[in-house]
Amino acid sequence: MSTVTPGHQASGAPRGRLLVLAGPSGVGKSSVVAGLREALPDLLFSVSATTRPARPGEVDGRDYRFVDRAGFDALIARGELLEWAEVHGGLQRSGTPREPVERALAAGRPVLVEVDLQGARSVKRVMPEAVTVFVAPPSMEELARRLTDRGTDTPEQRARRLATAIEEMDARDEFDQIVVNDDLQAVIRRLVTLAVA
Ligand code: ADP
Ligand code: 5GP
Repeated sequence: MSTVTPGHQASGAPRGRLLVLAGPSGVGKSSVVAGLREALPDLLFSVSATTRPARPGEVDGRDYRFVDRAGFDALIARGELLEWAEVHGGLQRSGTPREPVERALAAGRPVLVEVDLQGARSVKRVMPEAVTVFVAPPSMEELARRLTDRGTDTPEQRARRLATAIEEMDARDEFDQIVVNDDLQAVIRRLVTLAVA
């Protein structure tokens, strides 16, 4: 009979740590991810598949894997997604390809997936060893300010994102860690520690 130490595989090599990042739109997740990728070059950032069209500047394979609805449904049918969800009121589907995540973890590399609330819950269900991190704003006023300053959304979109943010904030206690994004560099340092601990 073989014994496997928690966090270790049958091969004896330690598995990488899986971090799941979620939090309201505008809280600074993209900024945190960019800093973390720079600080931890070994980190695999999971590139989601999505049915939404690419925004200007987004690159297929780097920001998202852009697929049509039939292509997305085929990924689901073949069991190739670790999790998926309908986002933006069911207008589009996004999901996490399973294989790159599994391969990196097996090679001992840290992995980061950035998902919505449903995605974070799904990943934790199928991979309880994942560390879920909720990025919270210092205040709702500051969140509104960041969304406005970012300048990428119409007033209607901002109002919708803020309404969703209130629901998301209500779920923060479900997460393993809550990190308030006041000092961006401090948040990045905290996540580096979580990723390699
Ligand atoms: P998200 O990916 O969560 O939607 P972004 O990374 O796009 O959020 O950040 C939203 C805005 O807030 C951007 O303009 C970004 O520069 C700014 N921002 C991010 N982190 C901080 C911080 N710690 N303090 C002040 N502004 C921040
Ligand atoms: P956007 O379309 O603005 O890039 O992202 C919209 C929402 O979809 C965000 O809340 C983002 O975290 C979420 N999202 C992006 N990729 C995935 C994914 O693979 N799975 C899930 N569940 N949500 C995702």
